Amino acid sequence: MHKIWNFHGGVHPNENKTQSNQLPIVVMPAPKQLVLPLSQHIGKAAKAIVERGDYVLKGQLIASAQGFVSANIHAPSSGYVSALVERTLPHQSALSGPCIVIDTDGKDQWVELNPATNPESLSKQELLNLVHAAGITGMGGASFPSAVKLQLKSDIHTLIINAAECEPYITADDRLMREYADQIVAGIQLLQQLLGQPQCLIGIEDNKPEAIAALRLSLSHKMDQHTNIEVCVIPTKYPSGGEKQLVEILTGHQVPHGGIPANIGIVCQNVGTAKAIFDAIIKGQPLIKRITTVTGKAAANAGNYEVLIGTQVEDLLAFAKVDLTRTSRLVMGGPMMGFTIQDTQTPLVKGTNCILAAADLELAPVADHHACIRCGQCEVACPADLLPQQLFWFAKAEEFEKAQDHNLSDCIECGACAWVCPSQIPLVQYYRYAKGRVKSINSEARLAELARQRFETREQRLVDEKSAKEEKRKIRAVAAAAAQAAKRAANPTEEDPIAAALARVNKQKQEQQTAAAPKSPEEAYKELKTAAAITRTKLKKTSTALANAKAKDHELEASLQQTVDQLTVKAEAALAELKAYEAKLGLDPEKEKTLLVAVAKTNAAIRKLEKTLATSEDPQALQKDITEAKAAHQIATKSLADHQANPTAKPASAQES
Ligand code: SF4
Ligand code: SF4
Repeated sequence: MHKIWNFHGGVHPNENKTQSNQLPIVVMPAPKQLVLPLSQHIGKAAKAIVERGDYVLKGQLIASAQGFVSANIHAPSSGYVSALVERTLPHQSALSGPCIVIDTDGKDQWVELNPATNPESLSKQELLNLVHAAGITGMGGASFPSAVKLQLKSDIHTLIINAAECEPYITADDRLMREYADQIVAGIQLLQQLLGQPQCLIGIEDNKPEAIAALRLSLSHKMDQHTNIEVCVIPTKYPSGGEKQLVEILTGHQVPHGGIPANIGIVCQNVGTAKAIFDAIIKGQPLIKRITTVTGKAAANAGNYEVLIGTQVEDLLAFAKVDLTRTSRLVMGGPMMGFTIQDTQTPLVKGTNCILAAADLELAPVADHHACIRCGQCEVACPADLLPQQLFWFAKAEEFEKAQDHNLSDCIECGACAWVCPSQIPLVQYYRYAKGRVKSINSEARLAELARQRFETREQRLVDEKSAKEEKRKIRAVAAAAAQAAKRAANPTEEDPIAAALARVNKQKQEQQTAAAPKSPEEAYKELKTAAAITRTKLKKTSTALANAKAKDHELEASLQQTVDQLTVKAEAALAELKAYEAKLGLDPEKEKTLLVAVAKTNAAIRKLEKTLATSEDPQALQKDITEAKAAHQIATKSLADHQANPTAKPASAQES
């Protein structure tokens, strides 16, 4: 007999299993409508490959897996796709998500199936492909795609079949084992074949004697096959069906923090998954149905039902004669790990093992909780060796880093801590909240890190491009200088064409200056003003061109910089020459500005007076003011004209004033 170990913590809530495990499984006929969420497994949602109006056959692929961690979805019955819409998802958040809705036609007509004719000859990869194609996910509730879980790099010495079904009320696996033991054992043998024939331990709680007997009977029929499969009966204690807890119970080894059983050479599969693998490979049927327990005091026909995936809760409840007027709470899953649902149109998915229709006072009321009294009972109950009260404080204070340091991720959300808590604190809700926040913080950090890496890569690329350009420019300049030098060396008598052109321009200028008639002071002043303005404009234009060249990293940048430097000197010299000439002539450079202001002011005064004339009580006096203003404007205008015509002359008005 296989040795059994114990695990730390755990609790013994009322089992409440006999309400639903007495009668055989009842097959529920296809309902009128099936709702299939595209995301009913851990990982990426599947992608719909059908459209509204399409006719589909039972077992036909309707949504294909996307990416590595994902699962196919098949039509559970024949009918028409009536919609691709958002519907409430079977999740504690009660959020909506995309679903394929099928209106069944009552024919339940299968697509052509391809069962394996010689399964013993299938290779590991062929078996994996069949598991993947059938859309099988963990049937124990976690819904992790099975093909991904079985695609292992490390050697596996032990396959553990989780038949513990430790959560109160739920009996779906119990009835499945009693009624389909042969198919389960055949499914386990296929799993062994896929994993390289490891030993197999079936972990089952001692509160299921009929299921234990059925499995043992089935194995006894296969004595000649040396199956290496052992049924290991374990004490009833919640949560012995937790993956890590079952590994410890059956092997005495602990899965490392943050690790998975494969790290120590073990793979766990649910007993329902073994049956689904049998259906997929031996019958060629994809995963389109499951056994779901309907229980609770409000369920007149409590029992286990074979339901099509996508059946809405209200249809199953109606079939099981659940009195909704007596139901105080509807729970999807069990009382420890399940969640309350409000929308009875929520569909059942691959991982839905129970619908609990609880009557008044059947489940502990969701009471106002009290302050933590640090009694430590939660720590004693925790099967994952955690400090639940510490995790609670960290989650409440939003100290998520500290919660992570205290192994929040190892919490299996079993609810044992909340069950024993005398203050009735909904501890698991705090842990779920903290896990959700940690997940989004990590994903934000990942995105920020990716953005940082992209930015740094771009910066480095720009620097590299700039240095490469500069290098090329230098090489070109050296080559041009060498070519020039070679040309001069080949013909030393030939003059430098640039120097010659400059000399010609200077000579021409000198000749023009010599030939020109002597200028009046006004003409000389005008020329100096024009020369200063032209140099200023040139400097402005060249500076703009230089800025553009710098922005585009143009090769003309250096020569433009040189021109700007030269023009700056030239503009300063022209301005200095102009100022000196103004000083020599005794000119006031601000004079023109002053005269312009005087003209504008007198003009404005006239307009203002004329505007008020129409409404004035004394128009005669105002008319006199207008006449005076006009005279002042005339004087200012004349002074300006005189100054502009002869800026070096002393204006008469100035002399007068
Ligand atoms: S059981 Fe409840 S009251 Fe006691 S320490 Fe834990 S959280 Fe606090
Ligand atoms: S819910 Fe988490 S913290 Fe509470 S007992 Fe279970 S594993 Fe421990």
